[in-house]
Amino acid sequence: MMIPEINIIIPLYNEEQVFPLLIKRISKLLDQSTLSISVLLVDDGSSDATAVLMKQLSFIDARFSSMILSRNFGHQLALTAALSRVNASEAVLIIDGDLQDPPEMLEDMFTLCKEGYDVVYAVRETRKEGFFKVGFYKLFYRILQKIASIDIPLDSGDFSLLSRRVVDVLNDMPEESRYLRGMRSWVGFKQIGYKYSRPDRQAGNTQYSLIQLLKLAMNGVFNFSEFPIKFITFLGVSTMSIGVIYFIITLIKRFSSDYVPDGFTAIVFLIILFGGVQLISIGIIGEYLIRVFFQVKKRPLFIIKELIVDKKEVKKKDI
Ligand code: UDP
Ligand code: MG
Repeated sequence: MMIPEINIIIPLYNEEQVFPLLIKRISKLLDQSTLSISVLLVDDGSSDATAVLMKQLSFIDARFSSMILSRNFGHQLALTAALSRVNASEAVLIIDGDLQDPPEMLEDMFTLCKEGYDVVYAVRETRKEGFFKVGFYKLFYRILQKIASIDIPLDSGDFSLLSRRVVDVLNDMPEESRYLRGMRSWVGFKQIGYKYSRPDRQAGNTQYSLIQLLKLAMNGVFNFSEFPIKFITFLGVSTMSIGVIYFIITLIKRFSSDYVPDGFTAIVFLIILFGGVQLISIGIIGEYLIRVFFQVKKRPLFIIKELIVDKKEVKKKDI
């Protein structure tokens, strides 16, 4: 089997609309490039024709391989599945299927890789998405950077070029709850950002629901930061202090004047305050516990239903 210098991995979930555009852009890149590149398309349990289109393509063009997962595992796990099967000798490029990550940046990113950078991550200088979405992203990355125990670069998604050894390290990391852009920072080596303006998706609709997006954000926070759990201690100490101060004031008033405090309001206030603090605290502990729970089960992270690689070669062997 031919070993390519570079693999491009592309997770696809119900992307039949953008698929022809995607393949056109990638094929053009492959035709023009002097590098040897092999593309691995991953179908993340699509319910439309994505998997069929992918398979057809892999049979007629050996530069494209296909991996079909047994169901929808989510973007991060689809990438994880792809990374586990890449065979490039030099580097792996991760891009989205909706052409929001211009594949043409590969050559420049690979130049940086050859200069000694193991991770070249794309940094979104501008984004052509809705006002609220962009605002939410910006705020989130800034909060995450403040509280995470590792330095996660601002405004960078999964779009990146990873050296072979970084891919090997990522494949050896057994964590169940995967936040690849965080794991990628965690591994270390020499890393560099590469700025670009992020276009809007070229066809179809976003495959990330709001819940999935929130889940991803929560993974970023809870997988890479002990801040929330430390914050509980802070919360406990500060609410208790407020309680004690309030108690002393009431006591002084009670004995120094005829004033009798109006107890009902105070009690309602305290119940809500402490009830809320306790529930939030239990929830935060729960977030960590959920992660331990799933990690301990040690289920496989993904299931590959079908893999169509280097079809011409397989055929030869079969005969
Ligand atoms: N995707 C996936 N599995 C999912 C959701 C999304 O493989 O469960 C893929 C999707 O097909 C696309 C990429 O992940 O190639 C990014 O998704 P999308 O463009 O919908 O996310 P957004 O850019 O809106 O955040
Ligand atoms: Mg997109």
